[in-house]
Amino acid sequence: MTFDYCPRCGEKLVPKQIGDEGDVPFCRKCERPFFPYSSPCVICLCVSENDDVLLIKQSYGIIRFVCVAGYIKAGESAEDAAKREIAEETGLEMTGARFLYSKYYDKHDNLMLAFLCRVKKAELRISSELTEAQWFSPEEAENALFRGAYGIDMLHEWQRLRDRGLLEI
Ligand SMILES: [Zn+2]
Repeated sequence: MTFDYCPRCGEKLVPKQIGDEGDVPFCRKCERPFFPYSSPCVICLCVSENDDVLLIKQSYGIIRFVCVAGYIKAGESAEDAAKREIAEETGLEMTGARFLYSKYYDKHDNLMLAFLCRVKKAELRISSELTEAQWFSPEEAENALFRGAYGIDMLHEWQRLRDRGLLEI
């Protein structure tokens, strides 16, 4: 997303040459550029101590199982956001996280940061935004996710790392 008006003071932005970036929308009043903007999100492949996979169903959007995901709040690290989203949506505690990869989602200008999250199995306390949360074996999880879901790539990446002994969380 690019800005035409200053998101702080509302002034019309003007192009200004900034280093190697070329022309960048600039606010003359605030004396700062506003680079094209994307919202960073975390997407969490939640895995228990014994390698079961936790998937959720949201009460809106696609009525299929998906991974826990959410926006990173201002001032929050990606790991903190993952821990918060998992706690808010399922009531479970994340004990460790490992960054897998990132992907850009054009439709909503989201930078998706994919994490493998180790989560302690306990009683599920699901948020009102969910209709269901359920543990699956990795094979079952692959079938429960819709084709093309980020979760499927994340499952494969997790298994690839685990099989090579590259995973320690
Ligand atoms: Zn301004």
